[in-house]
Amino acid sequence: MKRRVSILGATGSVGTSTLDLIERSPDRFDVIALTAGSDAQGLADAARRTSAKLAVIADPSHLAELETRLAGTDCRAATGADALNEAAAGEAEWVMAAIVGCAGLVPVMAAIEAGRTVALANKEALVSAGALMIDAAARHGATLLPVDSEHNAIFQCLAGSRREDVAKLILTASGGPFRTASDAAIRAATPAQAVAHPNWTMGAKISVDSATLMNKGLELIEAHHLFGLPSNRIDILIHPQSVVHSLVEFIDGSVLAQLGSPDMRVPIAYALAWPERMATPAQRLDLATIRSLDFEQPDLQQFPALRIARQALEQSGAAPTILNAANEVAVAGFLAGQFAFTEIASLVEQALERAVAGAPSSIEDVIQIDLETRHAVAELIEARCH
Ligand code: NAD
Ligand code: MG
Repeated sequence: MKRRVSILGATGSVGTSTLDLIERSPDRFDVIALTAGSDAQGLADAARRTSAKLAVIADPSHLAELETRLAGTDCRAATGADALNEAAAGEAEWVMAAIVGCAGLVPVMAAIEAGRTVALANKEALVSAGALMIDAAARHGATLLPVDSEHNAIFQCLAGSRREDVAKLILTASGGPFRTASDAAIRAATPAQAVAHPNWTMGAKISVDSATLMNKGLELIEAHHLFGLPSNRIDILIHPQSVVHSLVEFIDGSVLAQLGSPDMRVPIAYALAWPERMATPAQRLDLATIRSLDFEQPDLQQFPALRIARQALEQSGAAPTILNAANEVAVAGFLAGQFAFTEIASLVEQALERAVAGAPSSIEDVIQIDLETRHAVAELIEARCH
């Protein structure tokens, strides 16, 4: 039987890679719903190619264009929260969560509460909602499949082993475009330099996060929730080639790793076909050509975001929600040219100093803390720029 799938964030980097795999295996998948933020053309094209039944655009000002572009098809064009929830929790049994940022939280929760299998790329939603999301998945019988390459690697390494046999997780990080840059070069970094990742082609927000290493900080929190280990049993290791996607150390001293060329279609395919596997066109790993793999400790002086994120995880309460929201606003401000690259981590740290709220006890709480933090950081930026 075909797997019925929906993709939230179908026009982005992860979304288009997911579509690429689905379109190569039309006998395996039926596309039910696709969503996008504002790219009506990209959404309509994908919906036409895959014969999707529902296309949801988050920005209502693009609905008319979407309707026009879907004229003559069986695909319904829609906007609004109800339509987004329908895309997430409707007919599809498998849902790719690939919206960027906390904007994806409500639809991800809708899919979880409907007991769906959720392929989770949208790490910000998990960082923000943390235990609430994991608890909801357990309560509603939803399956979370990690799509982030590091977490997917760990998920693969853990297959068939008992959780009590795991000693620690080791998340690898490329180090981003500024790994070997001087302090001065990092302070002067432009948005164009920050989004130019050496190994991966990704959306702008995660590319900046990779440059600050906040991405690895978010992934540390993501790993804590997905695999249930405390901060002191999750290490970060810089590995510039992005070939070893992450490792698991077991209590007997064995270390398992997952390797592959840096192509998101590999972890996406693992989630798409799970518990089976499917072929992908990803370049095969040629270790004799690569010759050597390098590893080093992260530099927390140069990249304070990683230290700040670990502190937020250890502090817990509202800190991870605040960390994520502050980072989203700070990255958007940096990309808009409002301030220097190094201000991103400093704005996030300042936002966390104001962290007084306890742990959110509901998704509504998470959304409230997220909103308050966005306002607070916008004020900090305003105060700095004037
Ligand atoms: P992207 O910016 O390329 O795409 C984001 C998608 O979300 C687009 O379809 C966009 O239309 C949609 N979107 C944006 N804002 C929205 C809003 N307010 N409401 C509804 N939809 C909205 O991002 P990406 O690189 O594909 O990343 C998506 C997620 O996957 C992120 O959470 C990222 O951290 C994670 N991720 C990405 C990669 C990668 O290789 N790109 C790897 C690991 C994890
Ligand atoms: Mg990753």
